[in-house]
Parts: sequence; structure tokens; C-alpha cells
Amino acid sequence: MEKRLKIQVSGIVQGVGFRPFVYNLAKEKNLSGFVGNDSNGVFIEAQGNESDIGEFLDVLENSPPPLSQVDSVFAEEIKVTTHNGFDIRESQNGQAMATLISPDMAVCDDCAGELKDSIDRRYLYPFINCTNCGPRYSIIFDIPYDRPNTSMDKFQMCPDCMKEYTDPANRRFHAQPNACETCGPWVEMRDNTGNKLQEKEYAVVFANQSLKRGAILAVKGLGGFHLACDAHNKQAVAELRKRKNREEKPLAVMVKDLETAQQYARLNDHDIALLSSQQAPIVLVKKRKELSPNIAPGNPRIGLMLPYTPLHHLLFSSALDALVMTSGNFSEEPICIDNEDAIQRLGGIAEYFLVHNRDILQRVDDSVTIVLNDTPRLIRRSRGYVPRPVKLLRDSAHILAVGAELKNTLCYTKDDKAFISQHIGDLSNTRAMDFFHHTREHLKTILEIQPDVLAYDLHPGYLATKWALEESERAGLPAIGIQHHHSHLASVMAEHQIQEPVIGLIMDGTGYGTDGKIWGGEVLVGDYTNIDRFAHFEYVPEPGGDKAIREPWRMGLSYLYHTFGDQAEQYISEVWKELPTDQIFQMLEKGINSPETSSCGRLFDGISAIAGGSTHISYEGQSAIEFEHHMRQSDLPSLEYAIEKIGGRYEFKIPPIVKSAIASLEKGATLGDVSYQFHEMLVELFTEVASIAREETGIKKVALSGGVFQNAYLFERLERRLESRGFDVITHSDVPTNDGGISLGQAAVAQAILNANVSGVNYQ
Ligand code: ZN
Ligand code: ZN
Ligand code: FE
Repeated sequence: MEKRLKIQVSGIVQGVGFRPFVYNLAKEKNLSGFVGNDSNGVFIEAQGNESDIGEFLDVLENSPPPLSQVDSVFAEEIKVTTHNGFDIRESQNGQAMATLISPDMAVCDDCAGELKDSIDRRYLYPFINCTNCGPRYSIIFDIPYDRPNTSMDKFQMCPDCMKEYTDPANRRFHAQPNACETCGPWVEMRDNTGNKLQEKEYAVVFANQSLKRGAILAVKGLGGFHLACDAHNKQAVAELRKRKNREEKPLAVMVKDLETAQQYARLNDHDIALLSSQQAPIVLVKKRKELSPNIAPGNPRIGLMLPYTPLHHLLFSSALDALVMTSGNFSEEPICIDNEDAIQRLGGIAEYFLVHNRDILQRVDDSVTIVLNDTPRLIRRSRGYVPRPVKLLRDSAHILAVGAELKNTLCYTKDDKAFISQHIGDLSNTRAMDFFHHTREHLKTILEIQPDVLAYDLHPGYLATKWALEESERAGLPAIGIQHHHSHLASVMAEHQIQEPVIGLIMDGTGYGTDGKIWGGEVLVGDYTNIDRFAHFEYVPEPGGDKAIREPWRMGLSYLYHTFGDQAEQYISEVWKELPTDQIFQMLEKGINSPETSSCGRLFDGISAIAGGSTHISYEGQSAIEFEHHMRQSDLPSLEYAIEKIGGRYEFKIPPIVKSAIASLEKGATLGDVSYQFHEMLVELFTEVASIAREETGIKKVALSGGVFQNAYLFERLERRLESRGFDVITHSDVPTNDGGISLGQAAVAQAILNANVSGVNYQ
């Protein structure tokens, strides 16, 4: 019995090999009909016998091409025709292709095979790609996604490439970056003044040899430059750190293959799946043995990734199985993407520059992930993931949410989708602010969005906030201010499409509160439009403001002073003897330049400092990270805590925590012991406050968000503990728990405010 279906497929279905896939599948199943692209995605008419049609539909829904993301398959039966054969309809020219663009993807197995195949015409060609892999988002400057709108526009396809490009049965049918040695981009080796030393395969050989000799190279990748050196070479690594002004922050390592990764790390199934996925992110995995002691000093984990461009594959050999591959930038600036700019800015760091002439148009950093409690979590959501949207529960107005100050991302909403930008970084850096504006304009173009509403963080000093307020004035757009930790909560709720009120445990570094104080250890109960600040850590002064973030000992002193007053001096740590403690005590006594904070991040800093941890740090979150890593599990009791109800709201008191830490130290406890006692205390405290909130409100859902939950031990213990107490625990996976997730939360709150037709969030 013949049957004919009219099918509409939406999602990421263009520029990902969908039509040739459908074509080949139809041929295989003996179907007649056609397939084409339109502004809604892919349309198909297919006719054949009933079981073949059923199987065809099943494959479309359940095993589409690797780079596609099918959101919906809509099929209806129509009248059979006498048409024979199956063909691909050309896209209508000039028709708006309001469809989704794929993220950049790691080289696929087929292409990697050809790359290593000495009789293939693309043997060792560093730009091999097909419809199932290769650059996308990073090479696009406009839509539709066609070659003239990409940085491949300057390369004219040779007849062989053209033949593949126009053959519906070929893996490279309409592969926009299709290229070969004859017609495509090539690599060059330059010195650090820009002189060309070698080109093409000789440049790659030169790269291999110089890496083996211990040189530092700048290597142009997919979304930006890396700085590379042999990960086994301790001196090269030390030199790279010194030149890059990156003293202690862990460095990412690219290993030759999965087997090599397994030599250096203990991988579980989830780690393996993430590492070998086409997103090919950095995965923070547990070390098995040290590559070199200065790659991730003191850290039980190491950030590994696998080669994801053909050029990366060519950099490895039997004598070179692991390369440090850190972002090609100086200090905290955005990574370089342009050849000349890279040579200018990184000339003092790298001796050699392995560059190429396929321009990177959009900067996309490596994504960073970690597997916690058997679930992959994105810590930095960039290459491989952007611009894939987060699905919203319902259609939204066009909103632009501008994000926070550190780890900034921005977010647009359109239809039922939220598009979070790639990682932009610390906006106080002027280059990062340029990057912010570039990304804002670019996403606006490719998503065809004209924002109707702006959403921003309440912090008046954030540059993104300032811009949003100015833009609101200039363009006459309404702007909605959202409290930082409410955004964190809304972010995790939006990720899971949750509507009803939840208990939010939001543990964070810094965020501007509705009372003008610095929040960061908050229990918020509510939803997108109504929030009750149910509980928080007791306020303590932050002597010197942001300076206390870089000098954790200041927080240590503040907690001691808060707890012991005039007696505090006798408890100061041995290692602070050389520090100006008197000056800080005076600041605290007189309340000079000491804003109040309820931050959980600062509590980590302070308790760690009191127990003998770092007094000064060189990167964000360092002392809290070290504190976790020093942990020594024992049978010591957890530190003490107290929850008190003050003026209708619960406070977590500081003195019991500090006193019990001091008592423990006086009995000979080490930094690692106190770390354990502290982490366990937090698990108990947060579980208890969640139980109180459940009792009072009847709410059983608990959502975790905020930068503190990057702490693996705390996160894993707390999630399991809450589950064991019958809570339904909501956590981040696709969206970062840190400030990279703020923009999504802002967008979700703004959307809810518009839907509810209220003027703003009701904060209590
Ligand atoms: Zn491929
Ligand atoms: Zn060619
Ligand atoms: Fe935050």
C-alpha cells in the first residue's frame, strides 16, 4: 500500500548535511519525492510503501545527521502522486533563512580517516571538512549560511571540490567550507616579527620539530589562537607561564588521542563520551599521573581535550603526545583571532606562529566541562555549543539580556528559544568590551532579532549594566533590572523549563543586592517574578572592597574581628605576621571602605585564610579552589553553625563557624582537616535551611546555582544529601552555574515579567 507524507523538520537542520542525508535515506528505502530548505527548516515529501515510510520517519526523528538538532518532525498524509525518483530542491534565492546555525564541530571520523590516508586527495590537508564536521559559527558573518557569507568566500572551489559540493549523494554536498590543497586555505609558519619561514606541509613539520625542541608556539585554531608547548617539558611550561603572566591558574592540555588521555587521567564513561564528542570540550578529569608538575599545581584534576581540527591532528606524533594548549591571549584579554594582531600581541610570548588564511570571524574559546554526579556540566559554554539555543517553555518577545561583569555572556530570546552567546570574559578589559559589542551585533544579525526589551544586572558599576541603561535611553527601549542571584536562580529554572516556585540555594562570590549590599550566600524562595529572600549568611565587612577578593587574608581578619572583637588579634595566623593587620583592624573598627557582604565565596576565602591557606591570589576563586583541593577527609566533626531568625528572615551566623574552626586548629587540625570540616558543615547547613523552607512553604524543589557550586565536593555531597531527604534537586548542566549563566536568567525573568504584565520583580 503506497503512502505519501508531507514532512516539516525544524531545528538545526541546515548546513549540517540534512538534505543529502534525507536523499540517501530515501534512496535506501525506495521512496520517491523531494527534500528542500525553507525558512522553517527542511521540508520533505516522501512516498513509498507503508513500512518503508515508517522506518524513514523513525530515522529522521531518532538518528538524524550528527551535527543536526531536530526540534520537531511534523508529518501529515497527503495524496499519492505518480512522480518518480527523489530529488533535492534548490533553496529559493533571496528567501529569508530564519533557521539555526550550527556550532563549530570537531573533525569527523570520515574526514580524520581521509586525512591519514596517503592515497586520499586530501592526505594531510589541514582544512579537510564535510557536512558532518568543521567550522560553522566561527566563519560566518551573515545569513543565510552560504559560502559567500563566510570567510571561505575568497576561495574559489576547484572542479573536484565543486563536483562533491553539487553531488547530492556526496558527504560534501553543500558543505560550505569545502576545500582541498588545490583550491583552499593553507598554513604558514612565521617568526614572532611576522616573517614567513615555511608554508604548507613544511610549516607543519617545522611546528612539530620546534615543539619537540621546547619552543612555545602560537597556533591558529577554530575559534582563536592557542599558545602551545610540549606538556612534558617542564621548562617550556614554566616559560609559557612566565611570559603569559599566568602564575598558577591551571593550563589546558590537548592529548593525542583517548588512549593517551587514559594514561594521564582516570576517565569514567561520561568523561570519555564528552572528550570524544564532536563538541570536543576541555573536560576537567581526575589525574592519574602528572604530565608536568606545573600544569595544574595542587589540583587533583586536569583539563584535557582531544584534537578537534585537522591541523591539531597533524601536530601530534609518537614523540609528542600531549601539548599545553592555553588560550592565545595575554593575561585576561580575549583570545586573538587575527594573524597580524596575534603576532603583535603574542610576539613576546610565542617564538613561532602557525597561522593560516581562513579568517576566524567570530571568536569562540574552548568550552570547559566537568562531570559531577554522573552528569556533564558546562563551566564555560562556547565552542561546539554556541549558538545552539536553550529551549524555553513558551514564545518570548525579543529580549537582549546583557549578563554580568565577569565571565560575561549575553543572551537573546526569539520564539521559544534563548541564544546564549559564547564566553566573552571580564568586561573591565576594554578589548572584552569590544568583543561584547561585536558579539551583540553579530548575533542580532544572524538571528534576525531586533530587541524590544533589555535586561540587566542591578549592579550600577557593571559595564554591561551601564551600556543597557544608556541604550534604553537612546533607543527608547524598556529595560528591566534583575538582582544577580535571582538571575542565577532563574537561569537554572529556565534550563529545566520550571514554572512553579522553588527553593533556591544560591551560593556565589559577589552580586549586588536589592539593599545595596554585596550578596552571595542566599536562599531565595520564589519564581521569576516573586522572590523572597528567605535566608542568607550574616553580613560582615569586606575591608577594602574588591581588594579583599584578591587578598583573602583580609576576609579572614574580618571574620575574626566579627567573632572576637578586640580579642581577634590573638587568633591571627602565623603567616600573616608580615601583613598590615593593624591597618585592616582599623578599617574594620572605623568602618572605612568596608562594604558589607553575605557572600559564601568570601566565607570560603576567609575560613581558608584563617586555617593557613593563601593570603593572596592570582586568579578568580583561587583560594576556594585550593581549599577544596587541600581537603583531608577524616572522622573530625563538621564545623558548627547556627541558623537564627532575625526580622522575619533566617541568618547563618558567622561566630559558631569561626569559633569551631579556631578550636579545631588549636587541637592541631591542619588546613586540610578544616577544609573537610567546613565543607561538611555547609552540606548540613544548606540541607537544614532547605528543610526549614520546605516546612514553611510546602515546596519540595530545590535549585542549586552560583559560582560556589563549581566546587565538586560540595556540589556532589549536597545534591546527594538533598535527594536523600526527599527533595527534587534542580541543577545546571547545559548552562554554567557561574556568571556565564546570568544572561539566560535575566532573559527568563524579563520574559516572565512581560508575560505577567507587571512592572518588575516583586522582591521581598
Ligand atoms: Zn567530516
Ligand atoms: Zn579543491
Ligand atoms: Fe554570580
